[in-house]
Amino acid sequence: MFIHKSIHKSIKTGFLFFILIAVPSCKGETAVFDVNNLIGKENLVDVLICGSGPAGLNAAIHGARSGLKTVVLEGAEPGGQLTKSSGVENYPGFSKIPGMELIDTVRKQTEDFGAEFLSDAIVGVDFSSWPYKVTTEGGLTIHAMTLIVATGSSPKMLGVPGEELYYGRGVGHCAICDGPFYKGQQVVVIGGGDSAVEEAVQLINFGVGKVIVLVRADRMRAIKSGQDRLKKEDRVQIKHNTGVIEILGDGNGVVGVKVFDKETGEYIIEAKAVFEAIGSTPNTGFLQGKAQMDERGYLKMKDRSQETTIKGVYAAGDVESNRPKQAIIASGMGCQAGIEAVKFLTEELGLDRKFMSKLKYYKGKATGQESDKDSHVVQAKEITSGEQFKKEVLDKNSGLVLVDFYTESCVICKKVSKDLEGLETDFAGKLKLFKIDAMGKDVIAVAQQYSVTQVPRLLLFKNGNILKDYSGQVPTIVDLTDLLNKNI
Ligand code: NDP
Repeated sequence: MFIHKSIHKSIKTGFLFFILIAVPSCKGETAVFDVNNLIGKENLVDVLICGSGPAGLNAAIHGARSGLKTVVLEGAEPGGQLTKSSGVENYPGFSKIPGMELIDTVRKQTEDFGAEFLSDAIVGVDFSSWPYKVTTEGGLTIHAMTLIVATGSSPKMLGVPGEELYYGRGVGHCAICDGPFYKGQQVVVIGGGDSAVEEAVQLINFGVGKVIVLVRADRMRAIKSGQDRLKKEDRVQIKHNTGVIEILGDGNGVVGVKVFDKETGEYIIEAKAVFEAIGSTPNTGFLQGKAQMDERGYLKMKDRSQETTIKGVYAAGDVESNRPKQAIIASGMGCQAGIEAVKFLTEELGLDRKFMSKLKYYKGKATGQESDKDSHVVQAKEITSGEQFKKEVLDKNSGLVLVDFYTESCVICKKVSKDLEGLETDFAGKLKLFKIDAMGKDVIAVAQQYSVTQVPRLLLFKNGNILKDYSGQVPTIVDLTDLLNKNI
């Protein structure tokens, strides 16, 4: 509830009427919205958006279009879950468009309006005073006048034996990233929703031999047209009433799944890979105890707005429950969140350009802008042959070498590769960084030698021996830096 103290101040610099509002937050802390708090604060941002999927991008369009300082923290997966979609068919203006292309198109529009992107992610927030203090993985502290949470969701795990052990070695969540590894092979998809259909279709498109879709219920919940599409594919088999008990492997990778159905009992299905598509959980952990959410972590909104239970903090996309998860709906929510944030600043608080021109805004480097330091950043070299790999990586005098395996279709690989570039500069003369296309004709044998069946996959070598294998996980730059420092 608002407590309007009704203190309308005019300040010397203009005809502004500033409103001082005190609002209790979830924990009973009270933030006071006094625009004088902004004076002297460093790293201010008018509209800070966390997440760069359709919700975040559309929110950014509206912040930037209004001429407000709008910064997007891209998050660990720029573009979000939509980048994994092979084709979106219900986004107005496009009869069918790959998810990544849609994201690129909207992002370009967002940048044209002046929104800035940072390759960083939110890790903490302090709502006890305003402007809100936001800390990021990259170590930044930003003072945000409004915050839009569009952090999306992460895929759920099954929780059966073998899953963790073989994660990254056959078990995964991203057919568009890892599908190319399984040409001609039999693979399994678990789940009966639209994501399961997407995964199965992509796997077929990548040329897998057979996809067996395991649905625990007696029917799929995916849209009918999707189910019909699967039924038409002779390389797809759907097994209903089938639960997965265990993921089986041979020590190196997945070899099958142990399943159960009421009629047959337990049996084994051979498979080289298991793609899980069993729903997702919202990425709202950093707001636990700070903003109201339901028991599953979905944020609560005020009435029909996109405002959370914290004044000036909005949410859009997969972090809000009870809305169909569609790109167009997330975009609409983002649009509304952006508009509400702009209104809050310009109408409720009455901020205007003259006052804002005196503030100390965040002036860091946005993604894509080159600073002097970055112009010296060395791009990772590509290894294109087994011979080159032996010479550059396996030589006993090669020192520390970080090898980054990727595939062309893997979107997150592009972000990881970009994040790594700075390391070679930071450890100049002490670290070599190489990229390898895990499906590259002349280096596929190298990828196979290290059982690379999921990307991104990082391997750190010292003098030709593996020092660390980041199978199934992508370390943070902070973790990698620590490890490198210890091994120089
Ligand atoms: P859903 O929640 O829609 O479906 C999850 C599926 O996984 C269900 O079939 C569920 O079974 C099954 N499942 C859940 N837990 C387990 C488990 N432990 N073991 C086995 N099976 C399990 O998730 P999706 O990711 O498919 O979709 C999420 C949302 O995103 C939906 O709203 C969907 O419409 C949307 N979406 C839309 C797309 C599009 O329009 N192109 C593409 C992808 C997603 P049960 O039914 O028995 O609960």
